[in-house]
Amino acid sequence: MASHIVGYPRMGPKRELKFALESFWDGKSSAEDLKKVAADLRASIWKQMADAGIKYIPSNTFSYYDQVLDATATLGAVPPRYGWTGGEIGFDTYFSMARGNATVPAMEMTKWFDTNYHFIVPELGPEVKFTYASHKAVEEYKEAKALGVETVPVLIGPVSYLLLSKPAKGVEKTFSLLSLLPKVLAVYKEVIADLKAAGATWIQFDEPTLVLDLDAHKLQAFTDAYAELAPVLSGLNVLIETYFADIPAETYKTLTSLNGVTAYGFDLVRGTQTIDLIKGGFPSGKYLFAGVVDGRNIWANDLAGSLSTLHALEGIVGKDKLVVSTSCSLLHTAVDLVNETKLDDEIKSWLAFAAQKVVEVNALAHALAGHKNEAFFSANAAAQASRKSSPRVTNEAVQKAAAALKGSDHRRATNVSARLDAQQKKLNLPILPTTTIGSFPQTPELRRVRREFKAGKISEEEYVTSIKEEIRKVVELQEELDIDVLVHGEPERNDMVEYFGEQLSGFAFTVNGWVQSYGSRCVKPPIIYGDVSRPKPMTVFWSSAAQSMTKRPMKGMLTGPVTILNWSFVRNDQPRSETTYQIALAIKDEVEDLEKAGINVIQIDEAALREGLPLRKSEQAHYLDWAVHAFRITNVGVQDTTQIHTHMCYSNFNDIIHSIIDMDADVITIENSRSDEKLLSVFREGVKYGAGIGPGVYDIHSPRIPPTEEIADRINKMLAVLEKNILWVNPDCGLKTRKYTEVKPALTNMVAAAKLIRNEL
Ligand code: GLN
Ligand code: ZN
Repeated sequence: MASHIVGYPRMGPKRELKFALESFWDGKSSAEDLKKVAADLRASIWKQMADAGIKYIPSNTFSYYDQVLDATATLGAVPPRYGWTGGEIGFDTYFSMARGNATVPAMEMTKWFDTNYHFIVPELGPEVKFTYASHKAVEEYKEAKALGVETVPVLIGPVSYLLLSKPAKGVEKTFSLLSLLPKVLAVYKEVIADLKAAGATWIQFDEPTLVLDLDAHKLQAFTDAYAELAPVLSGLNVLIETYFADIPAETYKTLTSLNGVTAYGFDLVRGTQTIDLIKGGFPSGKYLFAGVVDGRNIWANDLAGSLSTLHALEGIVGKDKLVVSTSCSLLHTAVDLVNETKLDDEIKSWLAFAAQKVVEVNALAHALAGHKNEAFFSANAAAQASRKSSPRVTNEAVQKAAAALKGSDHRRATNVSARLDAQQKKLNLPILPTTTIGSFPQTPELRRVRREFKAGKISEEEYVTSIKEEIRKVVELQEELDIDVLVHGEPERNDMVEYFGEQLSGFAFTVNGWVQSYGSRCVKPPIIYGDVSRPKPMTVFWSSAAQSMTKRPMKGMLTGPVTILNWSFVRNDQPRSETTYQIALAIKDEVEDLEKAGINVIQIDEAALREGLPLRKSEQAHYLDWAVHAFRITNVGVQDTTQIHTHMCYSNFNDIIHSIIDMDADVITIENSRSDEKLLSVFREGVKYGAGIGPGVYDIHSPRIPPTEEIADRINKMLAVLEKNILWVNPDCGLKTRKYTEVKPALTNMVAAAKLIRNEL
């Protein structure tokens, strides 16, 4: 019985690749140094999988930046502005595309399906000439072979590559990306021939776009592509790998009739309906790569459950055609549990990171072959049982309270315009009120204070004094700038989710549980393992202190339940909605405590609401329904005079604007500065909008200082479609990553622009 891993994290157990990349980019180490770190990481990963007994070990899943960018390099599809003149693509061109250089900005980056990984979007126009310009796939295959490890080279499938691309500037509306298919396939043929010549016997094409809602034209592209490749693929075993959701029934038909394909990989963790499709018929003689070990989470597999799923599948596809696999690449989980020194043994027994998942896959394969490792299985069963019954997981009061929420609506009693009137009487704000999103620059000094307090090196008293001093500086600065609604600057927070997670019950934190977000950047999501509750107020102390320093309204600053959920590793033993409702109740208590403490404006950030949107259209309405409901629960208990703000990142709101309105916040600030037009078009199309709205007037992701006229111009454009009494003026997002030398002049210009227009109105 065989085992397979779809892909593996590249960053290394202690982020070795990150540090090697950043040191190379800073000119502190050579290209050779970087290559050496990368080769060592690859070797140790291959060896680890081989030692674990994995039969189909992937290669070419390593990347210096991103696997989609690697495919772009393989195809020689370098946008002309990077000045590449041919030959094998080296670090210079590669990293210029990824990160930009002194003269040319980077290529666009976007989210990889519904994960928190970001890929570099290929930009293709009718003029693009594809040439085989990076031999990385075959080089990695040979490298592994030289180490004695036979691997399955992994390529992004040609159709997914095109479907994930965007048309080059100037041809956005007219160009069909799929028309490039024949040209792209010509290079794929060369790559395949190369791999074959090097001795590869298997090849894996990742075609994750197959889980999306595809029309007949797109499905036809898959049929055409693999028919075209079939002659070159003959003699090879060909695996088409899909992941992240169920396969639509129509797609399943197309997929399982592709030419030249010998194996299909499915995500059976998220794809429970896919299992039914397989049971309804699977092409005889083909391999099924059954992704039963979750690549998106950190929980130990329920081995007994998986084994019974596998037994059922074995009856359909045959013993020798079933391969145990992961649900997707392990890129999206943490690397190795052995480096977790701070988690206690009980919680550790519930978890499996990438290295442990490899062992699980192998154990399942052995069990199917009749060599069940009884000790391993019973330890796993014991851990599953302890997770189910542990008092640390279950809090009955919380369960009851969350269950009681279902079916009810939770809306503030008064409508938003009446509320805004009541709030204005109390707040007395000028027209076009100015505010910021929450954080102010986090200086090295500030980070040091937090670190030393955590490590017990400074007393609580010293810590509180330093943080209060910082808040005072931020408050004074905002008064000096004449901003209308102030923030305390979030100096006590390292991260907007971690800060709350650390104070809520039901959360655990890792020391090395990093997951790649993009390039060398990683995130360390908290683990939500149990019912969530709030033992005591979390932000009231700091917000009250800040409010006492000024007569102007001070915004209370909270992270919303959906964002806390989307940026954590979440429980898989209850629906995501249930966990979110529990968090919502905890945040609700915090909102009410802030109100009692005299905070009249409270911002509840839902930065990540949009990014949790399910991939398949059929599931989106349900998600938006409970996500928006959870948000409303947090503030349903406040008085009309308390103004609730929310903030969202990312600018693609057009498709969810009605859900945003349904959140029923009094004011929403949104990231917008890179796409004014998109947002404006929503309102031009006549969407009725009555709440306060602050579309970001400048981009905080760049050090650039926006001139007053430019900001004024933006505000005027907004005024053309929105009522003047609902418009707010604010930056795009928090200022945490900027320097004071950038923030001061930028905010000065922002306030000046608001005043300029107020005078004209
Ligand atoms: N209040 C947070 C901040 O300003 C919001 C950050 C975010 O939207 N990502 O930092
Ligand atoms: Zn934001």
